[in-house]
Amino acid sequence: MSGAKKLQEYANKRDFSITPEPSEQEKINQETLPRPIYLIQKHQASHLHYDFRLEIDGVLKSWSVPKGPSIDIGKKRLAVETEDHPIEYAKFEGVIPPYNYGGGEVIIWDRGSWQCDGDASEQYRKGSISFEIKGERLKGHWRLIKMKDPSNRNWLLIKSHDKEKLKLIEPDPSGDETSVVSGKTLNDLKR
Ligand code: MN
Repeated sequence: MSGAKKLQEYANKRDFSITPEPSEQEKINQETLPRPIYLIQKHQASHLHYDFRLEIDGVLKSWSVPKGPSIDIGKKRLAVETEDHPIEYAKFEGVIPPYNYGGGEVIIWDRGSWQCDGDASEQYRKGSISFEIKGERLKGHWRLIKMKDPSNRNWLLIKSHDKEKLKLIEPDPSGDETSVVSGKTLNDLKR
């Protein structure tokens, strides 16, 4: 599937004359971010959630994680796959206007690069991705495992064991967390 085709669902859900989110045509400056991109956005839509994204095959594969990732080894967190997002989305922070798809505030909770323990496209297709995160708040080894259920969208995000002890920062949905990019909180964007 071509990059343009993959992003059709993303484009269909949004009116780029209203939302400040990037259209799939905008191209990111390749120099500015380590690749492949790993990213988590904290999103205050109708329900607060964390959007977990990994660059695979030229797009950001995306999962909505209602509780955010757990840093406890083996603890499963539901990750519902959503539409592919353009690479440029890795820089998006701001307010999606009300009554639009995903209306609400978005901050970049964590960002960095990631490394698959194998071929990323193949592991994604097989529904079992084993990888290392190199972010500011999250690091180390993780797994995404696709569940066998009729929705075909439900995965589990699970922390794996690391050789060394790493300092990880767990999401705190109740807290006043800051963006790793701007230092802003979701509340700052509401003002
Ligand atoms: Mn979202």
